[in-house]
Amino acid sequence: MKIEKIGVVGAGTMGNGIAQVAAQIGCSVVMRDIEDGFVEKGMANIEKFLTKSVEKGKIQAKEKDEIIGRIKGTTEMADLKDVDFVVEAVIEDLELKKRVFAELDELCRPEVVLASNTSSMSLTEIASATKRPEKVCGMHFFNPVPLMRLVEIIRGYYTTDETVAITEELARRMGKVTVEVKKDSPGFIVNRIMIPHFVEAIKIVEEGVASIEDVDKAVKNGLNYPMGPFELMDLTGIDVAFFVNEYFYKELPKESKWSAPTLFRNMIRAGRLGRKTGAGWYDYGK
Ligand code: NAD
Repeated sequence: MKIEKIGVVGAGTMGNGIAQVAAQIGCSVVMRDIEDGFVEKGMANIEKFLTKSVEKGKIQAKEKDEIIGRIKGTTEMADLKDVDFVVEAVIEDLELKKRVFAELDELCRPEVVLASNTSSMSLTEIASATKRPEKVCGMHFFNPVPLMRLVEIIRGYYTTDETVAITEELARRMGKVTVEVKKDSPGFIVNRIMIPHFVEAIKIVEEGVASIEDVDKAVKNGLNYPMGPFELMDLTGIDVAFFVNEYFYKELPKESKWSAPTLFRNMIRAGRLGRKTGAGWYDYGK
């Protein structure tokens, strides 16, 4: 089956990016959120990104209009009933994701793959809410979706080779590089490597070994990473990193590397969450 119509559940940071890259390969897209305001905000983000692409000469104005024209925003789940593939990108809440998957399972044709953009959660557990666990997998995009090249494709316990192949092919059509995560394991590849480096960076600052600025400078110039851990957390959300870390602590063998430093907890308690609040590591203590 050629995938021509894609459903995206959630029009937030990731959902609108996924809807955009799906429309860019010529698919028609149904992007669903729970309130008109969230759908409108998602559409406005896509419009903003594509306007910049036109200004930079990367696409023509006509192409921008065509891409936007292929995306239908909606608050009705029923509008996803005839899609060929679904990517779920609602907030990182396991019970909510299971409810969404149960609903999609009732609604979509039996052969349709239901993929989740979860950053860390068990695909086997998400799939257990459906009667088609063999057709459920992880399709983990990175932020910002139109620019980041990687997609991790994650197997749940029952995911078949066919489901992985369909998902891989779709990601490649979107111009993405794919990796296969063969076992359903918390955090997959990238987050499992990224979170301990965040935790270690916070411990270095907490112990007074080096400043936030110098840790970032060291990582960028010594490891050749494009961003330091504090800059990256400020951009993607300190709360997002914290909750993934807490999830690892719960799910993985108890090792000190998963234990959140007090400074990390205090940032969350103080509501200094990076991208959402504007206050993050870089104005710490100010
Ligand atoms: P977000 O908060 O920006 O967007 C989530 C959206 O889902 C919100 O607009 C919310 O209204 C909507 N939503 C809630 N319940 C819904 C429902 N029942 N149906 C439809 N929409 C619903 O979150 P985000 O950053 O886009 O994250 C979405 C998912 O992607 C999460 O699982 C997250 O872990 C994962 N993820 C996030 C990033 C990142 O950097 N932000 C990167 C990779 C993966």
